[in-house]
Amino acid sequence: MTTVQTPDTRPAALEIHDVHKWYGAHRVLDGVDLTVRPGEVTVILGPSGSGKSTLLRVINHLEKPEIGYVSVNGELIGVRRHGDRLKELGERAILTQRGRIGFVFQNFNLFPHLTVLDNVAAAPVATGKLTKPEAQELARELLGRVGLGEKTGAYPRHLSGGQQQRVAIARALALRPGIILFDEPTSALDPELVGEVLAVIKDLASSGTTLVIVTHEIGFAREVADRIVFIDGGRVVEQGPPAQVLDHPQHERTRDFLSKVL
Ligand code: ADP
Ligand code: MG
Repeated sequence: MTTVQTPDTRPAALEIHDVHKWYGAHRVLDGVDLTVRPGEVTVILGPSGSGKSTLLRVINHLEKPEIGYVSVNGELIGVRRHGDRLKELGERAILTQRGRIGFVFQNFNLFPHLTVLDNVAAAPVATGKLTKPEAQELARELLGRVGLGEKTGAYPRHLSGGQQQRVAIARALALRPGIILFDEPTSALDPELVGEVLAVIKDLASSGTTLVIVTHEIGFAREVADRIVFIDGGRVVEQGPPAQVLDHPQHERTRDFLSKVL
């Protein structure tokens, strides 16, 4: 008996095509291709300085690539080819696109002068997506989801790092993004606080949210990733399911990296 697999015809949640980024003579991204399907969890591994943060920043328009394009849900974000501007979106379109992408930073980046509730409610109000009461209701729901329903009135400085990062995740969710990018979300945390943040990310992963996660937590990567992408020197060296990349890496550079972090 043959099994017929229905091909996934939905547009990619994220498509990165031949992205190059350089600073002067320093080539930070050197032709990166990556496709992320809706609902897929992609973990990016790679040594320090390999271009992981830059790649996330290009996806979120915080950096412009010199060459290449990024598209989100089939919608082109920007194209540049060898210096020729074939198409470039205006500021307004970029803001719209950015509203579809959540970004969780290593250092939380919460607004210190706002309560936890207002940190989460701020963006949907500022972007005109929700009224303030609607946004606050959503914020309460999301804070409950990340286990912080009791902390809505607190200020960030009164929270632990793990709690602050969970607020940052709720804040990213408040824009109902199609995809969430995490840049080393637990590397600024004391070891005993890492688990609570990873648990929240795992919960998102199992609920079908599209995630791209840069992390050095290999055990977590193995559990949560549909695909692991190993980057070195601004290039994708290899990618595949965790069992393939972590247990049977094909490239010397991947083996070398894994021997240092495992
Ligand atoms: P990773 O996140 O993998 O550690 P990054 O993307 O932060 O790597 O950085 C990759 C390389 O690009 C590093 O060598 C870094 O020094 C360089 N780089 C990053 N941002 C800038 C910048 N704004 N100007 C110059 N060099 C940069
Ligand atoms: Mg980085």
